Amino acid sequence: MRSIYDISFADLEEFFVNNGYKKFKAKQVYDWLYKKRVKSFSDMHNISKSVIELLNNNFYFSDIKILTKKEDTDVKKYLFGLSDNNKVEAVLMYHDYGNSLCISTQVGCNMGCAFCESGRLKKVRNLESFEMVMQILKIEEDINDRITHVVLMGIGEPFDNYDNVINFIDIINDNNGIALGSRHITVSTCGIVPKIREFTKYDKQVNLAISLHAPNNDIRNKIMNINKAYKIEELIDSIKDYIKVTNRRVTFEYIMLKGVNDTRECAIELSRLLKGINCYVNIIPYNETSHIEFKKSSKSSILEFYDILKKNNISVTIRREFGSKVSAACGQLRANYKEGL
Ligand code: SAH
Repeated sequence: MRSIYDISFADLEEFFVNNGYKKFKAKQVYDWLYKKRVKSFSDMHNISKSVIELLNNNFYFSDIKILTKKEDTDVKKYLFGLSDNNKVEAVLMYHDYGNSLCISTQVGCNMGCAFCESGRLKKVRNLESFEMVMQILKIEEDINDRITHVVLMGIGEPFDNYDNVINFIDIINDNNGIALGSRHITVSTCGIVPKIREFTKYDKQVNLAISLHAPNNDIRNKIMNINKAYKIEELIDSIKDYIKVTNRRVTFEYIMLKGVNDTRECAIELSRLLKGINCYVNIIPYNETSHIEFKKSSKSSILEFYDILKKNNISVTIRREFGSKVSAACGQLRANYKEGL
C-alpha cells in the first residue's frame, strides 16, 4: 500500500489507465486531495464506488502529527512525529512576499558539516515524498493559509534523497494539486556533484542553492566533509555547467563563522572564485547552538565581508535572522525535544 500523497499526477493518470479507467479520474482525485483537502476516499463524492474501491485497495491516507509548535513574530517552528515515531522539523517564515516553509528531507543527516546541529544525529532514513508533502498540508491547515514558497533547507541533504525529492517537487508543483510555482521552490545542497549534474537535466525551473561556506579547499575540508569527496573546483565546474544549460541564477549560501571563514582574505578569495558566475551570495549569520563550539561573526566583520563582495561586483545579501529565540537553526528543536527541554 502506498500513501495517496506519494503519487505524482502523471503516475496517478497512468494508474487509472492501467486499471481500465480514463486518465481524467486523476484530475478529480487530485482536486479532492489538494484543493478540497478531504481525508478519505469515501468523501470524494463525484467518484464512483468501483473507483473508490480501487483506490482503497491500493492507497491509504497517511498522517504526520504536530508534536510541538514554537512561535515568534516572524517565524513558527514545527516538530512533526512520523508514523514510526521518528521526528523532523519544518520552519515557517513570514516574509513580506509570502509564507515560506523550510522543510526536512531526511531523519538525521550523514553529511557531517561541523557547524550543523542536524548532523549530530546520523541519518536514520530518507523521508518519503508524502512525508514532505504532508509537512505543507499540515501547516497550511494549522495556519489556515497558503504556503507560497518552499525551501528544502531543513534537516537532511535533499540530494542524498534525490528520487523522493524530485517526486515531491513534481507533486507540489502540479497545477491540478497544490500548484506551487517551480520558481517558488528552492533546493539546497551541500554540493553532491553527480546529483547537481543530474538536477541540471531536470525539466522544472526550480531554484538551486549551494551551501558553500568557504572560499577554498583548506577551510571547506575543515567544516564540510562533503568537500573531501568533491573539491571546490569540481563543485564550481558543475555549477557553471548547470547555469549554462538552465540559464538560471544560482545562490551560494555562506555562513559566517567567527575566525574560521569570515576574514577579509576569505572575502577577496570568494570574490575571485565566483567572478563571472551568474549567482548571488547569501551571507548567513551563524545561529549558535549550545552543543557546537563555533561562534557567530561580529556585525562589523559581516558588513566588511559584504562590502568586499559588493566592491568586486558580486551580488550579495545578508540573510535576515529568523527565530533564534525559537531554536530555528536546523535540527535545534528536535535536539532540544530529545533532551526534554
Ligand atoms: N543539506 C542541505 C540543506 C540543509 S541545511 C545543505 O547543506 O544545503 C540548510 C542550510 O542551513 C545550509 O546552508 C546549512 O549549512 C545551514 N545551517 C546549518 N546549521 C546552521 C546554523 N546553526 N546557523 C545557520 N545556518 C545553518
